[in-house]
Amino acid sequence: MSTHDPYTHSQVVIIGAGFAGLACAKGLGKSGITVTVVDRRNHNLFQPLLYQVATAALSPADIAEPVRRTLGRYDNIRVLLGEVVGIDSTGHRVLLKDGTSLPYDDLVIATGSEYNYFGNDGWKPFAPGLKTIHEARLIRHRLLSAFERAERATDPAIRKRLLTFAIIGGGPTGVEMAGAISELARQMIHHDFKAINKNEVDVLLIEAGPRILAAFPEKLAAYAHAYLTDIGVRVLTGRSVTKIDADSLSLGDERIETICIVWGAGVRASPAARWLGVEGGQQGRIPVEPDLSLPGHPDIAVIGDTALATDEDGKPLPALAQVAKQQGEYVADRLRHKLTGRTHTAPFRFHNRGNTAVIGRNAAIFDFGSWTLKGRMAWFLWALVHVYLLVNFEKRLLVSIQWITRYFTRQRSARLIDENHGRDDDTSDPPDKPFENPPAAGR
Ligand SMILES: Cc1cc2nc3c(=O)[nH]c(=O)nc-3n(C[C@H](O)[C@H](O)[C@H](O)COP(=O)(O)OP(=O)(O)OC[C@H]3O[C@@H](n4cnc5c(N)ncnc54)[C@H](O)[C@@H]3O)c2cc1C
Repeated sequence: MSTHDPYTHSQVVIIGAGFAGLACAKGLGKSGITVTVVDRRNHNLFQPLLYQVATAALSPADIAEPVRRTLGRYDNIRVLLGEVVGIDSTGHRVLLKDGTSLPYDDLVIATGSEYNYFGNDGWKPFAPGLKTIHEARLIRHRLLSAFERAERATDPAIRKRLLTFAIIGGGPTGVEMAGAISELARQMIHHDFKAINKNEVDVLLIEAGPRILAAFPEKLAAYAHAYLTDIGVRVLTGRSVTKIDADSLSLGDERIETICIVWGAGVRASPAARWLGVEGGQQGRIPVEPDLSLPGHPDIAVIGDTALATDEDGKPLPALAQVAKQQGEYVADRLRHKLTGRTHTAPFRFHNRGNTAVIGRNAAIFDFGSWTLKGRMAWFLWALVHVYLLVNFEKRLLVSIQWITRYFTRQRSARLIDENHGRDDDTSDPPDKPFENPPAAGR
């Protein structure tokens, strides 16, 4: 500790203002403890609704909020924009990319996770994951551009390539994307595209395991599988992607031509284990003590997707927003106790509020452990929970209004093609015939 008056002068540094970091910072708000939150982005992002940005249902600003704004009301918290590249745990300093460093007495690491391409990082430009606003806009651009180009193309092979959409990974993100793309395609074709037949659209959900939604009970996964099939998604299980390039992917010997591929096949923790020189566990996550501290370092806590914490039975906790949020609140409480000289001995306990995934309009699944819910009721509950979890009242109101409007009109308001993305990321062919000569309409 750097001073004799820990309550007023102790420096807590929180790296990452996602679900975990923000919950921890808010928990330390108005505590009198000096807190610095450092993040490489200036905004907090509600990742569970990113797929709605990628499929033109919401705009980026609906689900993102400047961290400075969220934490601005706490006088004891300062927010810094900066990328962390290392930690000097002996010297108690956080090392930033610009060469500067931040001193800490207590450190909270909440840097989340990133998509794992399992050694094939070269696939990333062709198959972006869904983790940032940039990626969501890139996917939206590719999706909407493909329809625009197909409307003008007459060569059947080009039309097929443009109207094939592949989502890799049958977890909640893959399922949500596949359902949303299929519904978007049907709705757009019905209303706005006169030269595309809905039967030409091929949405593929590719999963290497024996079934989709492996983390959910089998009956919920079966319901999701049947629902997706019903709305025109081809669910391919037990199939591994072996190659991806600018205009195709391969499943062993089978080559599928497509310019719109989304990666949702797996995540790995941020590289914080490397910063600390410790051995990462499952998915590179850092094993932590029951109080979420780094073993041998009571002054360092690791929370959220980066932490490998276990439940009472020793089972790893899932990388979920609700786990991250509860861990952030717990560590804030622990630090408040520590820095005011009181003891805090209770270990972290996760309270499961239900694991959910949305599959389509009026269809979602909920797993509460001892009971489950599916269909329209689950969809309403999913919508309520997600609105409630949005960062503030303004976002809740904005998103609610848009969802209610969309529910009744079926219109998606954010169908904008971003010109900037078109320059360096556009890999599709130009139309094979002049614009003045569109193919005949057919539906
Ligand atoms: C598409 C998608 C859908 C999801 N849907 C759900 C869902 O429905 N329900 C659910 O419970 N969970 C869902 N999740 C998982 C959930 O979003 C994560 O579990 C949660 O975000 C983890 O919180 P976190 O604070 O650990 O990380 P994050 O929320 O990812 O925050 C990490 C923060 O650290 C910052 N950071 C990272 N590296 C650095 C660095 N080097 N320097 C400075 N800052 C850094 C990042 O900019 C970010 O702000 C979803 C995830 C995705 C990607």
